[in-house]
Amino acid sequence: MKVLKFGGTSIGSAAKIKNLAKIIDNGEEKIVVLSAMSGTTDKLEEIASLFLNGKKEEAVVQIELLKKKYFQVVEELFSENEYLIKGKELIKQHFDYLLSFTKDVFTRYEESAVLAQGELLSTILLQFYLEEQKISSVIIPALNFMRIDKSLEPDEYYIRENIKRELAQYPDIKLFITQGYICRNAFGEIDNLKRGGSDYSASLIGAEIGADEIQIWTDIDGFHNNDPRYVEKTFPIHELSFDEAAELAYFGAKILHPSSVLPAKVKNIPVRLKNTMQPDAPGTLITENEIEGEIKAVAAKDGITAVKIKSGRMLLAYGFLRKVFEVFERYKTPIDMITTSEIAVSVTIDNPKYLPEIKKELESYASVEIDDNQTIICVVGNLIAEGKGIALKVIQALEDIPLRMISYGGSKHNISVLINAEDKVRALNELNNKLFKFDE
Ligand code: ADP
Ligand code: ASP
Ligand code: MG
Repeated sequence: MKVLKFGGTSIGSAAKIKNLAKIIDNGEEKIVVLSAMSGTTDKLEEIASLFLNGKKEEAVVQIELLKKKYFQVVEELFSENEYLIKGKELIKQHFDYLLSFTKDVFTRYEESAVLAQGELLSTILLQFYLEEQKISSVIIPALNFMRIDKSLEPDEYYIRENIKRELAQYPDIKLFITQGYICRNAFGEIDNLKRGGSDYSASLIGAEIGADEIQIWTDIDGFHNNDPRYVEKTFPIHELSFDEAAELAYFGAKILHPSSVLPAKVKNIPVRLKNTMQPDAPGTLITENEIEGEIKAVAAKDGITAVKIKSGRMLLAYGFLRKVFEVFERYKTPIDMITTSEIAVSVTIDNPKYLPEIKKELESYASVEIDDNQTIICVVGNLIAEGKGIALKVIQALEDIPLRMISYGGSKHNISVLINAEDKVRALNELNNKLFKFDE
């Protein structure tokens, strides 16, 4: 059994849904994990925020606009009258539900339910289309098996047992469809795996059923050596190790959700990245294999805050770092980068929610300086095998850019630097020109 996840752009129009049906209709056993059609989750987020702020009329305007788009998709997707009617009825149901919030109270719980509508719609539309094409398939609802626990981590036992139960109901079916992104939380309420979370859904499902392969189908021919949104000349990497892919995803490569590599790595299930518009392109294969001696790729993570903690006392006296880290732990704020000197330690965080409280506690024994609007640039590859001079190459490529922090040696895969956000595009381009060879 394989797990194939298709992202929003892969199902962004009726024509793309038809193309996807061709890709999945090959007789192989598979679970297809779908995102919402592109733009839908953004729009639903906007609608939820309008409701949360009491702007009901504006919410209705946005709901009607989105509804119109879906009616158009139905018109273009189905050719038989029966399915045109079923499709329109489906859209009406889901949008009537959204409109019902003009009368009800709207809380964070309703927000998650609103955000779930995109994946619920896309999966049923695909199922109807497959039925119309006489392709045998079944929806297994993610809300029946995907669950996070009280610490917002996947409830693996629950997921495994319930997905098995769902699949066992249909011994003759080879093609299963399910929703990415959405789940239930520890209280049984509708929740989600955070933006871009369909990749994570696919990887969790793949790990729990022991899939032969997890495929992430998107709008680009695999993992590129640099971020194609900011750098013109990039190229696909054919093979990456789990650790390299995890570092890149965590440090900003949008093609993969940051948590999506780990479940596959733990169960050693290959992850293949494929392009829906070019199904024959090789894409990227992520496995445990480490290919020696190469800088593989560069990624950038925005929205970083640097916190410098300077102490009058000897910083590296034992116990001081523990004291510092405990403050961040108490406020459930993960630290990404760390650098130390004898009198100061600098750390970076990507979630400044509790920063005022953290600062206040740290200030009871140290002086604290904060720089926001920072970006981590991360260079990934088998860097130890690359040998001497690798750090120099990276620093030299960035010679014109002020570096706030440098981190090397934490793992053999990663050199990270912290820079001002405004220098990001220049840094990515400099690294592209100076670290990679291009075939002309
Ligand atoms: P989907 O909707 O299929 O989940 P995403 O937009 O989340 O697609 O991810 C694919 C996008 O990720 C690409 O279109 C590309 O712009 C962006 N991206 C950022 N970094 C990389 C990278 N290193 N390699 C490939 N794509 C990347
Ligand atoms: N639809 C969700 C989002 O836009 C999940 C995903 O696409 O992976 O974030
Ligand atoms: Mg994505």
